[in-house]
Amino acid sequence: MTLEQTTERTSTDYRSELFIDGAWRSGAEGRTFPVIDPADNSEIAQFAIATEDDCVEAVDAAARAFPSWAATPPRQRSEILRTAFEILRSEREHLAEIMVRENGKAFADALGEADYATEFFRWFAEEAVRIPGEFRLSPNGDKRIITTHQPIGVSLLITPWNFPAAMATRKLAPALAAGCTVVLKPASETPLTAAYIVEVLTRAGVPAGVVNLITPDRVGPSVERMMKHPAVRKLSFTGSTEVGRVLLKQAAETIISTSMELGGNAPFVVLPGSDVDAAVEGALVAKMRNGGAACTAANRFYVHTSVYDEFAGKLAEKLREFTVGPGLDRANKLGALVSIKERDKVADLVDAAVQDGAKVTLGGGKLPGGAFYEPTVLVDVKHGSAINQTEIFGPVSPLVPFDDVDDAVRMANDTIFGLIGYVFGEPQHALAVAQRIDAGMVAVNRGVLSDPAAPFGGMKQSGIGREGSSEGILEFLEEKYIATTP
Ligand code: NAP
Repeated sequence: MTLEQTTERTSTDYRSELFIDGAWRSGAEGRTFPVIDPADNSEIAQFAIATEDDCVEAVDAAARAFPSWAATPPRQRSEILRTAFEILRSEREHLAEIMVRENGKAFADALGEADYATEFFRWFAEEAVRIPGEFRLSPNGDKRIITTHQPIGVSLLITPWNFPAAMATRKLAPALAAGCTVVLKPASETPLTAAYIVEVLTRAGVPAGVVNLITPDRVGPSVERMMKHPAVRKLSFTGSTEVGRVLLKQAAETIISTSMELGGNAPFVVLPGSDVDAAVEGALVAKMRNGGAACTAANRFYVHTSVYDEFAGKLAEKLREFTVGPGLDRANKLGALVSIKERDKVADLVDAAVQDGAKVTLGGGKLPGGAFYEPTVLVDVKHGSAINQTEIFGPVSPLVPFDDVDDAVRMANDTIFGLIGYVFGEPQHALAVAQRIDAGMVAVNRGVLSDPAAPFGGMKQSGIGREGSSEGILEFLEEKYIATTP
């Protein structure tokens, strides 16, 4: 890495083009779309629109680059990822600033995401050189069983807007470590973060064609066309369950391997005998990280009646201290939602809950200027009401009381989703309840659990497969069994 590569960047002149076959360029039709700062609705940039043909060109480029990238020694791939890690670590403020501007999140959230996102390059740099294989004798001694893992092929990576950096690096890092070449399609709200990360990868030494970036406006048809391209062997998608369902059907056409990180509806259970202050601290993180716009966000609070009033009161007290405003002002703890449309969805859910009998003890309103919504606490929410069945994706905490722990478990599991749950209580009790929660991940007496070294993923309609951990790289590898003489 040269000194130049580590220089702190402060430019607001963001990359806003497609990246295909090692070149930054506009789309074939020269059209662009605006990227909006939701804190003040100003335009940050005009980003190139990819035509369907541009998308196919990106897949063609990835297909051409695949044989040599797959054959590149793991150590070399690893060192490129490690360099990307070093660059991103030294430019974390710049990465955070791009995310704040196009996503609206608070600066502290953006810095936290920048660090989390960057860690995937370090983690998978370490995994690239540990791809597993076996060489053993069959039980009856008639053959050698050799198992090896080879890169699956050209991979299509589709990401959402809520964690524009981490959702991209959680896919790019294992794919590249495995020896796959990729086409990255970021969310239309947040393409600047993706373009910056791709630029960092090129500075780290990723060869032409290995990573491609496209931003089609006709996203459904463009993705469908790419999935029919014979070179595409993998679809790794993070986004809503609704879109995931459509993509799974399309993947069936050409039997493409899929990894699906979909929606959540996380229960947050506060058991009798809980340390209420600790539960409130956990709730603040589980609810308010990223302004509530997280698939892992606590979405439904089930609180035992013995601690309900104390929990509700203390939570509202702490949330009242949250300053709301543009994320670029680091004093603000809660930034804007990603768009006015998303903000209005949150407002509609709160209004519907109130119509359904819930009481607002804090907040409950839109704020002027940009896509801002007040930190909000709702009590006496009915289990099964719309706000309990929908991902809120905003700073709203709906509280449901319970008397019986079995009831709490039943309500927690009464959802089509199964991404994550939170349980607070006396440790042995909380651990026992955690084991009964139908979710891929459960945080016990903690408000956050994501870690690149841990398997991230959901059960039920929250997804298929795991990211991070030693399993994340396996999603981009095919196991091959070779039999030979003993
Ligand atoms: P989304 O609407 O499903 O969009 C996700 C991505 O899919 C975007 O890049 C979007 O592109 C693209 N897309 C939309 N329609 C498509 C189609 N027909 N074919 C192919 N791609 C299509 O989700 P979102 O609103 O951006 O993100 C929020 C959702 O993501 C929430 O449900 C959240 O829970 C989930 N999420 C899950 C995880 C997890 O790890 N489980 C993590 C983060 C977020 P455009 O932007 O161009 O429309």
